[in-house]
Amino acid sequence: MERYYQKEIECAPVEELKAMQNAKLVKQVKHVYEHVPYYRDLMDKKGVKPEDIKSTADIYKLPFISKADLRDAYPYGLLAVPLSECVRIQSTSGTTGRRVVAFYTQHDIDLWEECCARAIVAAGGTKDDVCQVAYGYGLFTGGPGLNGGSHKVGCLTLPMSSGNTERQIQFMRDLGSTILCCTPSYAAYIGETLKDMGLTPNDIKLKAGIFGAEPWTEAMRKDIEASLGIKAYDIYGLTETSGPGVSFECSEQTGMHINEDHFYAEIIDPDTGEVLPEGEKGELVFTSLDKEAFPLLRYRTRDICVLNRKKCSCGRTLIKMSKPMGRSDDMLIIRGVNVFPSQIETVLLEQGYTPNYRIELDRVNNTDTFDVYVEMSQEQFSDTVKDITLKEKELASALKTMLGINPKMHLVAPKTITRSEGKAVRVIDRRKLHD
Ligand code: ADP
Ligand code: ZN
Repeated sequence: MERYYQKEIECAPVEELKAMQNAKLVKQVKHVYEHVPYYRDLMDKKGVKPEDIKSTADIYKLPFISKADLRDAYPYGLLAVPLSECVRIQSTSGTTGRRVVAFYTQHDIDLWEECCARAIVAAGGTKDDVCQVAYGYGLFTGGPGLNGGSHKVGCLTLPMSSGNTERQIQFMRDLGSTILCCTPSYAAYIGETLKDMGLTPNDIKLKAGIFGAEPWTEAMRKDIEASLGIKAYDIYGLTETSGPGVSFECSEQTGMHINEDHFYAEIIDPDTGEVLPEGEKGELVFTSLDKEAFPLLRYRTRDICVLNRKKCSCGRTLIKMSKPMGRSDDMLIIRGVNVFPSQIETVLLEQGYTPNYRIELDRVNNTDTFDVYVEMSQEQFSDTVKDITLKEKELASALKTMLGINPKMHLVAPKTITRSEGKAVRVIDRRKLHD
């Protein structure tokens, strides 16, 4: 039976949700205009006043805000309450550049933790569960967000943070952890370590995992589910909007329900900024409807996905977003062809390889070089050199079919590709050094 943390919201009639969004948006725009000079300037430049925004149908009139604005306004430029009202800051991982800091009042923290609690309950969590949080703690939002959500649900919370993988497994066994929260790449590594320790999923009590903070494929999901004996749920979020819990997966595992009472989502054409109809692929844009300290209006996430409001078997009425296919700035342009690392991952896992790979790009004589290093399993490694060369050819050809360009394949020995305890770094692009 499906359980909910806040059923009255999660399963509310869509019209009710929309009315709630309209009322909150009007209030939020006013709050921001009055308290954040940076926004007021942007809105004045566009000739739009708070009174012009009467419902979400008017939202297109507002200017976008981007990561560049956040960096511009660093650190206090977008703060909408006096600093004395704030109780916490968190910061982005800085995956794609300088870090961004976000501020929270106690109200903001409570709402954020409730969003995470919804995700934990959707994954089957109750107060009888033992929730092991192996996301990094500190400025990164993963650890603190899921930690807070786990408390709200009433789980026994293990604030492990990431790293020290054998100890993670030891605690998991000693304390009978039933839910694991971490990045999918770290979950894969924990699964691999379990096997290396001579253990199987029967030696642990895990039943569910809540994994996010980076893109991961369906193939990777199957792998993790098998190696840990669990059902793996996706969770999405970003520091700018609070952290994990902006959206979360339910038992249907076909996309993540957006917490629409707190976030208004749009999909836009990343080139023109035009709002696209539901069901079309584009860049995800969020407006936080409830945040006091750091409320962003029309924040461009650069994450590419699709929204849909098809009826979900879990009973939730919240709109769903597809797994982000990667960030618009994750996309590699190699010899003029668009390539997402997730496409490469899908092929590797389909062909029976591990998700341990690295993409290296460089430029030689004005031509891009494209090398893919993939780790072999112990069994694959015991093949003869001739077999390995053949396998490299097969893999290169499968990738060529998917991507349209030919990579240079390198199958490497087991355990030679660095494992990730947080967000995986899979691309080394040396071409930038020459620009
Ligand atoms: P940074 O941008 O420095 O990595 P954050 O730690 O705030 O900062 O990460 C937010 C980003 O992480 C999102 O914009 C998105 O690109 C990625 N992300 C978060 N959750 C997921 C998920 N479940 N699937 C894919 N990508 C995700
Ligand atoms: Zn659902």
